[in-house]
Amino acid sequence: MHTYTEDFDIIVIGAGHAGAEAANVASKMGMKTLLLTMSLDTIGQMSCNPAIGGVAKGQIVREVDILGGLMAKVTDETGIHFKMLNTSKGEAVWSPRAQCDRTLYRLTLKKYLEQQKNLTIKQEEAKRIVVENNKVAGVLTNHNNLYKAKCVVVCTGTFLNGLIHIGLKSFPAGRYAEFPATGLSDSLKELGFEVKRLKTGTPPRIDGKTIDYSKLEVQPSDNPPIPFSHFTALSKFPYQKLLDCYITYTNKETHKIILDNLDRSPLYTGIIKSIGPRYCPSIEDKVVKFKDRERHQIFLEPEGLYTNEFYCNGISSSLPEDVQEKIVHSIKGLENAKITRYGYAIEYDFCPPTQLWPSLETKLIEGLFFAGQINGTTGYEEAAGQGIIAGINAVLKIRGEEPLVLGRDEAYIGVLIDDLVTKGVMDPYRMFTSRAEYRLLLRTDNTDLRLMDYAKKYNLVEESFYQLFLEYKNKLEQLKKFFETKKTQTGETIADLIKQSKEFYLEETDLEPYKINSDYYWNTQNLINEAKIQIKYSGYIEKQIHQAQQIKKLENKKIPEDIDYEKIPGLLKEAKIKLSQIKPKTIGQASRISGVTPADVSVLLVHLKKLSDKEQQNIQK
Ligand code: FAD
Repeated sequence: MHTYTEDFDIIVIGAGHAGAEAANVASKMGMKTLLLTMSLDTIGQMSCNPAIGGVAKGQIVREVDILGGLMAKVTDETGIHFKMLNTSKGEAVWSPRAQCDRTLYRLTLKKYLEQQKNLTIKQEEAKRIVVENNKVAGVLTNHNNLYKAKCVVVCTGTFLNGLIHIGLKSFPAGRYAEFPATGLSDSLKELGFEVKRLKTGTPPRIDGKTIDYSKLEVQPSDNPPIPFSHFTALSKFPYQKLLDCYITYTNKETHKIILDNLDRSPLYTGIIKSIGPRYCPSIEDKVVKFKDRERHQIFLEPEGLYTNEFYCNGISSSLPEDVQEKIVHSIKGLENAKITRYGYAIEYDFCPPTQLWPSLETKLIEGLFFAGQINGTTGYEEAAGQGIIAGINAVLKIRGEEPLVLGRDEAYIGVLIDDLVTKGVMDPYRMFTSRAEYRLLLRTDNTDLRLMDYAKKYNLVEESFYQLFLEYKNKLEQLKKFFETKKTQTGETIADLIKQSKEFYLEETDLEPYKINSDYYWNTQNLINEAKIQIKYSGYIEKQIHQAQQIKKLENKKIPEDIDYEKIPGLLKEAKIKLSQIKPKTIGQASRISGVTPADVSVLLVHLKKLSDKEQQNIQK
């Protein structure tokens, strides 16, 4: 007998960055939603760095924002240091990043979730996924409660069988001072899922009053900063006081301390066997792998407005406590610094994401979705991007509608999910601009132009904002035309000058027709910037649009779900195995699977043509 049962449409397991977005969007779309989490006090906890955004990640946050998500809004409300990155390069590659007050971030996220209609939040651990006839039916919790649902989204982060390492000691935990989730991994394995291990790590935190700031480089926030969210009122922003960050470096002595103590490192003594994030390595990894580097940069980032703690970005470590003390004291400005929390590494279970459809629904169990770190990614933004898509698709599944699958030319989220489900992961997957072949199309400044139609389609944008967006979009086209036709005294058009990065002057009256009375992203200044960017990079942008259209032809060629690759003559053995495993939905997706050659794609195309010819003949008979 179960202690208590209740029916829901959708259950989301885990209230981290993926789970928060999934639960928010599902309930916003009218579904009776349950959010289960290990602790109500750590909803939206930033496990590592108290920062959101960065190159490519900032773009994801803005995409989540347009689709009705919370991350950008909460970042704006709790940000204490904002920086637009890459401003020395063209606007097309700018990326926003912000430091947040860690505590305010989670409290603010919790506040928005608690205010959300249709959403029930409970502090309970999911122990088993209940399945009937290969379809998800609900979740059983540690209180022996049975919650029934039509769809379940699993967003368990680093908690599944989490194991923390500090030096040669290790102990079970989801994060430091939090219980691990046990049982759910076994339930997934019993259902037939492949479950593997990955690892990540975090640096020590130090007491700000023990830092010698006179020896450090100061890094002030942008002021005035640019908000993340399109929906943040500019007149109210920034909401919080802005704080400085500081820069210092490791040195030869730091590196010697690390090298002398590798025999006490869980990474270098073989205790940790799982692979960690390649692009966010521990300081011991950096020192060992880049032996000729004389120093590594460290950003000292304030943890919040009401605390003295600083996050030491750049010295993630799982070396023993006494070694971490020595490392910190060897660094300029930190000679007398006191560590408040030690760094650590954590190993956890994840499910290789090739077990998912591009909708993030699992191939094995209908109605079961995975999002976030469980799919082998790392990062809050990557988690949020998957969470919102899994949430939307769980709703669409219940409504019997086609899933939302964003293209690689439409969104970084599209690139992220396509990479995960098509290629899988070898090490924790982090987003980079280099992963996107159409980078110039996926800019921060045009997120609204790329994704607003989806927000409108799924009713995720308030009507007043949508009308404002439409006004902006119309005026943008008009302004571009004006720039292309208005001649200067030299006979060139304004567009010609923009393309040559030359200054130009406009009368107030010239701009009058394009003015927008708005306190939000859709304002006159952003309109002018957007018109300039689109004109300046038009050649490159058109080239990428053309390339994307060519590839789309392959993307539109659907592969039937019941296709038997073993029976297709001419396909190489490796291609047969990979195609049967990944089950690509389109020829485009098939062509991106590693091990599937262009020759295999041609064979597949010929086979599909034969199938459709046969079908045609059958219809005619
Ligand atoms: P999480 O944020 O981990 O949230 C998981 C949620 O699920 C939690 O609320 C938990 O309570 C809940 N939960 C888990 N199991 C259950 C269950 N059975 N029942 C109910 N609730 C459950 N990212 C980087 O980009 N760079 C880094 O350097 C970096 N370092 C990290 C270091 C450490 C030590 C850790 C722990 C994480 C680090 N991360 C880093 C990763 C980043 O924190 C995650 O990628 C991100 O938080 C993942 O979001 P998520 O929503 O998938 O999971």
